[in-house]
Amino acid sequence: MKIYDVTAPIFNGMPVYKNKPEKQPSIETNTNGHVTESRLSMDVHTGTHVDAPLHMINDGETIETIEIEKLVRPVKVFDVTEADEKISLKDIEGLEIEENDFILFKTKNSWDTEFNFDFIYVAEDAAAYLAEKKIAGVGIDALGIERAQEGHPTHRSLMGSGVIIMEGLQLKDIKAGQYFMVAAPLKIQNTDASPARVLLFDEMIG
Ligand SMILES: [Zn+2]
Repeated sequence: MKIYDVTAPIFNGMPVYKNKPEKQPSIETNTNGHVTESRLSMDVHTGTHVDAPLHMINDGETIETIEIEKLVRPVKVFDVTEADEKISLKDIEGLEIEENDFILFKTKNSWDTEFNFDFIYVAEDAAAYLAEKKIAGVGIDALGIERAQEGHPTHRSLMGSGVIIMEGLQLKDIKAGQYFMVAAPLKIQNTDASPARVLLFDEMIG
């Protein structure tokens, strides 16, 4: 069985949303010569992470309420590296997307080594289609699932339909197909997101 780690490494100087300096993680290491302890301070949307509905919906559910069974399960990776600017309905309506699927979109973003202000995102019409299909979750290889859409309709239609959103995946080495996913966000209470370790297995488990 092969394990693919599709998680972004976390370090000071890593790609962060819109290159905002205040979004850089800071890791402070202290040692007394015998014991070393580090303190990490970072945005919950750093690197590979899972968004909770609270992120875009007032009084929405928080990250720890997402049942782990919804994040440890089979997934379908789709290659949409042909998409320019955004993933629109026309790019995905021919794909085999079914009810309750958890899908990951591999785009050109996976080759970016720094924050790309023009990252490929999921357009409003594609998000509405995914919500209507009643998928369980969607992941993308950008630090955001949308940009340049006033009112955040992509987040809203997905979250409004209970679709889990995962951002910041690294899918360059992943071929399209079916995998078993273990996505484990930290069990932080009452927040709008959490960083996660995300692993894909080339065989089904369980
Ligand atoms: Zn996020």
